Amino acid sequence: MSMQGNSDHERGLRHWIQEGKKIASDRSRRIGRTRKWKFDTVATHGLYDFEQASSLNNGSIMEPIYMSPAQAFHDYDEMEVALAYQMPSWTYTRIANPSTFFLEETVALLESYGTNLEAGCVACSSGMSAIRTAIEPFLVNDRSAPPANFVSTSRVYGGTFQQFSQRQMHDRNIEVRWVTDNLDIDEWASKIDSGTRFLYGEMPSNPAVALFDIEKVAELAHAHGIPLIVDSTCASPALLRPLAFGADIVVQSASKVMVASGMAIAGTMTAKKGIPSRVGPDEMREDFATWVKLLPYRDNGPAMSPMTAVLALNELRSLRTRVAQMSRSAQQVARFLDEHPKVARVNYPGLPNHTQASIADKYLTLVDSEYDAGGLEHLYGYMMVFEVAERDAFAPINTRSFYDNLNMFWRATDLGRVKSVATLPAISTHQQQGEEGRALAAIQPNYVRISIGIEHVDDVITDLDRALDAID
Ligand SMILES: *Cc1c(COP(=O)(O)O)cnc(C)c1O
Repeated sequence: MSMQGNSDHERGLRHWIQEGKKIASDRSRRIGRTRKWKFDTVATHGLYDFEQASSLNNGSIMEPIYMSPAQAFHDYDEMEVALAYQMPSWTYTRIANPSTFFLEETVALLESYGTNLEAGCVACSSGMSAIRTAIEPFLVNDRSAPPANFVSTSRVYGGTFQQFSQRQMHDRNIEVRWVTDNLDIDEWASKIDSGTRFLYGEMPSNPAVALFDIEKVAELAHAHGIPLIVDSTCASPALLRPLAFGADIVVQSASKVMVASGMAIAGTMTAKKGIPSRVGPDEMREDFATWVKLLPYRDNGPAMSPMTAVLALNELRSLRTRVAQMSRSAQQVARFLDEHPKVARVNYPGLPNHTQASIADKYLTLVDSEYDAGGLEHLYGYMMVFEVAERDAFAPINTRSFYDNLNMFWRATDLGRVKSVATLPAISTHQQQGEEGRALAAIQPNYVRISIGIEHVDDVITDLDRALDAID
């Protein structure tokens, strides 16, 4: 290149770096606007404002769906600056996409709602891929550190149990150490050593609705210089925001109540800025979500489809209202089942005398309910497990009769749906982990898990009542 060409090139690079700064400052302005809003308003508008609509989308008041795999650049210089990550750009949909970006920004704002934390989110193709995206950066082979292990609540979703015990422990020889009593902080502490890379917990757990004290476990993790990762799928940010209690990373299966209409398989991983880790570069600790997105996420390819992102965004707008209705109905259903003579036991944190009632009240509250007419409202979610009375739990004939007599409830392995669903964990979500694994996760053979939808609660109860009556 001639001298002339060189200085043109430098001018070009400077121009695009400058343009990048403008985009970044516009983003800060849009984030600032959301900071004054309540949860429902953030969920409804996110970072999409009139400026975005007029510059990107012919003024459309709804976010655009960009199905394109790739972004075109003006010239050589813009491409060079963009691909050196010196200006915000999206480049290629496996790495980033403007539609997905609107979802990621909204989820990050909702997960950090009510705090001063800055958070970043990456949207993933499923809840399982969000979990893998969250954990693997901490499980890298590092010659200066002892072999990796991690500590997790044993009461986790069946797929998570398989990912940890099969894909990590069996396939990669990375030890998972199960905590059997979630509430016993000494048990957590006793499992941590110099090889422990992170702590992991599901809150509330699927299906046993087990709880743990996020604040205490986060303190313990931080005392060892490691992060706490929480899966709060069953609560969603409408009832619980683990980052506000000290967790570092939160994962969601957005396939569940976040997209309650059932239009998507999706996951999100949200991390606060500035997290502890015993391994990895400083950039990873400073801004985990961005680092993950630019490197392992780019290379491993767990990206979400832009179509899914816009569907999910649309559903988040009514998340709080929906979770409130589903949870209020669940409270009534739990009371009905608890008093029913053919039901042996109901596990729902909203019932009086529930063993974990004080933890439930500490963590599960309808966001912003303090501004509602009725005042602060504790809600305990839309999911519960119960046991139909049986002579022999290992030959659950009454459970089978009840299950087959359900008429409105769907028999499916699903939850968080607008439609009520009943699942038998022992033969579905937790089948593959075997008897021993189920015992570890505290899954009884006659457990019925129900997830209450947005139907009228009278119809929900009538269906359960009829199916229970059909038992001889
Ligand atoms: C369903 C579920 C997952 C997995 O999510 P997918 O979107 O199905 O991959 C993870 N954690 C919990 C608590 C779940 O209920």
